[in-house]
Amino acid sequence: MPKNGDLQKKSVSKTIARGVASAAKTAKKSAKAVLMTGRTMSPPVEIEPRVIDSPALRALRKERRRLTEELKCQELLAQDRPTTGNHMADDASEVEAQAKSLALRRHLEGMIKEIDRAIARAEKGTYGVCERCRRPIPEERLKVMPSAAFCIECAKLQTRPMKVVTVA
Ligand SMILES: [Zn+2]
Repeated sequence: MPKNGDLQKKSVSKTIARGVASAAKTAKKSAKAVLMTGRTMSPPVEIEPRVIDSPALRALRKERRRLTEELKCQELLAQDRPTTGNHMADDASEVEAQAKSLALRRHLEGMIKEIDRAIARAEKGTYGVCERCRRPIPEERLKVMPSAAFCIECAKLQTRPMKVVTVA
């Protein structure tokens, strides 16, 4: 019977047509997805506290590593000083160098603590939010100072009392 062959031909062409249609559909969908992601890429309005921002966290961890290395170097240098042994440092410049070295180490320790606090904030999801006024800290400030806990306005208010009070 010729009818059978006709039917087969028809169903084959139908399947092909269906295949083409579904391929077109998926292509359309992926094109739409590209458009959608393109739309979400536009700069978001920052009102909500930032959730863990991995580039920021990475920058913090990198900076922490760098500071820890520097602190280690400074500690080794301090240990290597010949005057820290039996006899007192009587050379004025040596005394000054020791004081400078100690100040530098204290400074590095302080910076590492700041970074630890910033990492803790990132883990809590409050990184990039001013600890005083709760407003988002501008991106440019975080880029320069990733461990910033305050916005510029609040930092100005904080620096004076914070320098008087020694944080143990
Ligand atoms: Zn603030």
